[in-house]
Amino acid sequence: MSSTAPSTSRFRPSSTLKKKHIANQAMTWSNWYEHVAWINVIFVAGIPLFGIVSAFSTPLLQKTAIWAFVYYFMTGLGITAGYHRLWSHTSYTATYPIQIFLALVGGGAIQGSIRWWSRNHRAHHRYTDTLKDPYSVQKGLLYSHMGWMVLKQDPQRIGRVDITDLNNDPVVMWQHRNFVTIALSMSFLFPCMVAGLGWGDWKGGLIYAGILRLLVVQQATFCVNSLAHWIGDQPFDDRNSPRDHIITALVTLGEGYHNFHHEFPSDYRNAIQWHQYDPTKWCIYIWKQLGLASNLKTFPGNEIEKGRVQQLQKKIDRSRAGLDWGVPLEKLPLIEWDDFVLRAKEGEALVAIGGVIHDVGGFVKDHPGGKALISSAIGKDATAMFNGGVYNHLNAAHNLLSTMRIGVLRGGLEVEVWKRSQMLTKNV
Ligand SMILES: [Zn+2]
Ligand SMILES: [Zn+2]
Repeated sequence: MSSTAPSTSRFRPSSTLKKKHIANQAMTWSNWYEHVAWINVIFVAGIPLFGIVSAFSTPLLQKTAIWAFVYYFMTGLGITAGYHRLWSHTSYTATYPIQIFLALVGGGAIQGSIRWWSRNHRAHHRYTDTLKDPYSVQKGLLYSHMGWMVLKQDPQRIGRVDITDLNNDPVVMWQHRNFVTIALSMSFLFPCMVAGLGWGDWKGGLIYAGILRLLVVQQATFCVNSLAHWIGDQPFDDRNSPRDHIITALVTLGEGYHNFHHEFPSDYRNAIQWHQYDPTKWCIYIWKQLGLASNLKTFPGNEIEKGRVQQLQKKIDRSRAGLDWGVPLEKLPLIEWDDFVLRAKEGEALVAIGGVIHDVGGFVKDHPGGKALISSAIGKDATAMFNGGVYNHLNAAHNLLSTMRIGVLRGGLEVEVWKRSQMLTKNV
């Protein structure tokens, strides 16, 4: 456009302003199909459905079943050991043969390129449970499972992360540029050819080792974004949604210890106890022994234990806060000894113990040591009786007694009262 264009051209009518991204428009009967990411729907729903229907007319040979399972493991590993732990979190260094293997079999799980997947995953870690988390479970379990892929997302909304390392990684960029070819050959052609050339089961290879295996590996990975943020324990931190659960670990080659993983994302392990199922960790460890992987990152055990203890403490504090520990000493009124004796004479069941006055009226009949003993202490200082003179009361009795306190005795064992008060405030 020439520089003599009228200056009014800057004021464009509102209809020509940039249109809102479809994800930011309400879904209606007339635009719902624009919200759908159709290519994704074909790969995560259409083809798997076709596989399920075709399985009814395709006999399953034993060799094909074993091959389908092995290939499920391989392609799953491409995602867990490759896309996730190697490229998204750089939790270890892999040699080129391992990188190429993982880039190929990971492509066979049809979950986008390493670059696309890792970019989303880094945003998921950095902005967990917020609007910038591409598969936030706060938008619903189904959304975090598949909805985020089936419906178009506004790319502007996904949180920014640094992926310069991936942009400079030759294997990542090679896989990204050739993703369609790699994905189609590795998910359908290769498993079909192995079964076809191996034992003549071309159709079974395609349906079972290709399509149905794809369905399982996709659904398993999606479970990490949904189930692992929904069911299980939170032994390290409960401020966000990630959780640890054996079921999620079993279907995802060990990615189910997700609370640990979100706390210590650069650790090459997802599960650190010997009894926790994490075959991805075992594979990476074996590669290291074979000289195929190195620089396996682990968080120091002391730091991991600190996180666990802090979370435990948080739970204890929460339970503690929900219990009745009696009125804090500093909030109790001061009572003179003479007033205390007088009130007891007038009928109140007051007992002084350790400089604190307690109303035991409601408890006399329930006293495990008998009504007579506790009644004999009314109007008196029963400190010695309570602490061993007659019976050395146990912790539960001390706790129960504290819920009955109504005042602090002026001049009565003030040092002891002060010390106890300090201890209580510190603990609670
Ligand atoms: Zn997560
Ligand atoms: Zn992760």
